[in-house]
Amino acid sequence: MGGYFGVVSKGDCVADLFYGTDYHSHLGTRRGGLAVHDGNRCARFIHDITNAQFRSKFEQDVLKLQGRMGIGVISDTDDQPLIIGSHLGTYAIVTVGRIANQAELVKQAYGLRSAHFSEMSGGEVNPTELVSLFINQGGTFAEGIQIAQQAIAGSCSMLLLTGTGVYAARDKLGRTPIILGRKDGAYAATLETCAFPNLGYETVRDLGPGEIVRLTPEGVEVVALPGHRCQTCAFLWVYYGYPASTYEGVNAEDTRYRCGAALARQDTTAVDMVAGIPDSGTGHAMGYAQEKGVPFRRPFVKYTPTWSRSFMPQDQSTRDLVARMKIIPIRELIQGRRLLFCEDSIVRGTQLRETVRRIFDYGATEVHMRPACPPLIFGCKYLNFSRSKSELDLAGRRAIKELEGQDGVPPAEYARPDSPQCRAMVERIRHRLGLTTLQYQRLDDLVESIGLPKERLCTYCWDGRE
Ligand code: SF4
Repeated sequence: MGGYFGVVSKGDCVADLFYGTDYHSHLGTRRGGLAVHDGNRCARFIHDITNAQFRSKFEQDVLKLQGRMGIGVISDTDDQPLIIGSHLGTYAIVTVGRIANQAELVKQAYGLRSAHFSEMSGGEVNPTELVSLFINQGGTFAEGIQIAQQAIAGSCSMLLLTGTGVYAARDKLGRTPIILGRKDGAYAATLETCAFPNLGYETVRDLGPGEIVRLTPEGVEVVALPGHRCQTCAFLWVYYGYPASTYEGVNAEDTRYRCGAALARQDTTAVDMVAGIPDSGTGHAMGYAQEKGVPFRRPFVKYTPTWSRSFMPQDQSTRDLVARMKIIPIRELIQGRRLLFCEDSIVRGTQLRETVRRIFDYGATEVHMRPACPPLIFGCKYLNFSRSKSELDLAGRRAIKELEGQDGVPPAEYARPDSPQCRAMVERIRHRLGLTTLQYQRLDDLVESIGLPKERLCTYCWDGRE
């Protein structure tokens, strides 16, 4: 994934940019970057944040930055922001999304004989540089951004820092949000609205799908109108969006309470307590416990002083180790009890299996799992959401392969919660995870919990509908 924050101000913008970008740290682990325009030129810093938090890496840099406009990024892919010299003027750019047709676009770009890439990493083109190449084909920034948006399959939201303001452009089907905020003498564009309250911004509105605006200290100019079709990623509310954030007018934490309550209404299992797999299962579990009238407890607590980041390191064995070290079980709450856990989702299930084993080792008599979304059976094509290389990494997909005897596009029945095929898939996953029971959220309940019409949400990873 990744996240961005942009700001224009009548005064210096650097503090807002620094903290606003930092509030996106849960969305990526690879690179952080800031670019500031001081009226004459862009200054930029990029750091590897794989082993250190954004703030600690940038706190010395911000002392050297000065300016009234800036953009920042937490990136899960390559170096950003890039500074691009073009016939449109020099600008800095950050992007979030996934260019599904990158190879084809690179080929197309090489067809323009003068095109070249200077940000190659491991033989791969930097996707943000690729986007800039298409932007540079426009007569204006707005036209260039539209050319890029049309060319890209997948999704790409972006911020551009130019001499005349910050351009904010949401991907053409609105999978990732861009939300505008305002305070006295300043405007900001963010992916996470949790960046706003402590910096004094009020939310103005969400950009529509494909909409492009230019922010200046004087106001917001719409330079391209939104399209009609919007498919915001439903996973934002379930899992990776920050609880304090609101997208399309719907708060993430509030949605998680409703998701938990919906799970509880479908469930007749008798248990002694409800808990969340920390942190993102907590809101769902609180909603479940409240609806059911069962005590909410924390039989696992997270060691937050040093393990505060939500996303994990890149390689699997380090991730497993970190996952284990972060979460501490409390025997007094586990031994001899029937525990029901809410979890945001089950992706691979590897860590969850280990967690379940530990809970039984600590003396639980039953362990029930209630994921807040349906089984994932399609890999995300639109965001760099998971690091999995193959759809077969998904617990649901692996179960289908075992049941069908081959991999391929899963028959539609697996996405129907009442079908025998879906039940058989869930039973396989339950068995593999060593759970007493496993009951997933139904997609219609998830959509109702979010509260937006289904056609305004992307639900591809659950039902394969584009
Ligand atoms: S496929 Fe899933 S993770 Fe990807 S955008 Fe759609 S809902 Fe979000």
